[in-house]
Amino acid sequence: MVDFDSAKDDLPRSIWQLGIYDAHCHPTDNYKKLAKALDILDIAKLTVMATRLDDQVRVHDATVKHPDRIIPSFGYHPWFTHLLYTTTLPPESKYSHYRAVLVPEPPEQFLELLPEPVSLSSFIEILTENIERHKYALVGEIGIDRSFRLPNSGELISFEESDTGDDAGDSSEGVAGHSPSDAKRLSPYKVTLEHQIAVLLAQLCVAAKYQRPVSVHGVQAHGILYAIFSELWMGYSIPSRRQQKRETEEQRFVVCEVEDEAEHLASSDPPPFPPRICLHSYSGPPDQIRLWTSRKVPAAVYFSFSLVINSRYGEKLRQVLSAVPDDRLLVESDFHVAGKTMQALLAEIVKFICEVKGWELEQGVRILGKNWRRFVYGIDDFD
Ligand SMILES: [Zn+2]
Repeated sequence: MVDFDSAKDDLPRSIWQLGIYDAHCHPTDNYKKLAKALDILDIAKLTVMATRLDDQVRVHDATVKHPDRIIPSFGYHPWFTHLLYTTTLPPESKYSHYRAVLVPEPPEQFLELLPEPVSLSSFIEILTENIERHKYALVGEIGIDRSFRLPNSGELISFEESDTGDDAGDSSEGVAGHSPSDAKRLSPYKVTLEHQIAVLLAQLCVAAKYQRPVSVHGVQAHGILYAIFSELWMGYSIPSRRQQKRETEEQRFVVCEVEDEAEHLASSDPPPFPPRICLHSYSGPPDQIRLWTSRKVPAAVYFSFSLVINSRYGEKLRQVLSAVPDDRLLVESDFHVAGKTMQALLAEIVKFICEVKGWELEQGVRILGKNWRRFVYGIDDFD
């Protein structure tokens, strides 16, 4: 499989015209380049992720300016969760806040580099407002990352408006410090799992309330993410056929024994979990795909693949792709600059998936397009 630098787009225009959708990208990190790039890009629509406090408004603006090309996604990425406090009252000082959410405990010198934290509830208000403003907005990028460490500089990770040419740079996920060359500039400090979970759950609540899909980042957290979601859908799992049959038979004799599950389903409140979940740049084991896609799961779980992240998994990527049901596959660039590289990354992953799945290019693009539309809009289409 090709790597990031040699990615090229050699798909015929007729294939692009069938509709290739980027299920997860970050072009607002280089906002100035976005409008011009959209004029030349063949990508049908970009699902644009927000990640932190200051890019929510850019994702909103970009959507207002390019409503035909952008599906917005609002959320707070696990890499930045330390910047939020989850308590009702503000912390005594930023020092006490960061000491509580970072492990191991950093020295004062390091904490001095970090900004004043902001309340999670104020972020949730912004998130809710954006979700209400945009009918098809997703919640994301949200998730859990157990390998991420804060940069030594204490600075936020940011790729804004780099001067390094049109498409230069690495994927935002790559720059995060998962590659060995980044090791030196990373501190040993991580955000506690507990804190990441609190921020994730608050956002999942919004997604559930408005019944929106979510785009989820998970690194070294596949078991935990599954546990979090399965707790949310507890009592909602779809009974097996045998159970359903047994229940119908029992109902003939037992007149009115209302089960918890039936009670939930009868209530008019939306279920407490998002209806559709995208595990973006999925890097978990192939076995776990069966858990997420079991017919008992009451949400539709999709798996999205990017060239940059997933090519690191080598042979395992083929096994993972083969294990994903055809109607749950999505493609993404996960790239932070709209432009030719983004398009090439998408073209390469589309070709790779078609090869592994044994699909003709046209057939594969149609399947992937249909999947994206079902994931985003929640309805199946007929083309
Ligand atoms: Zn991302």
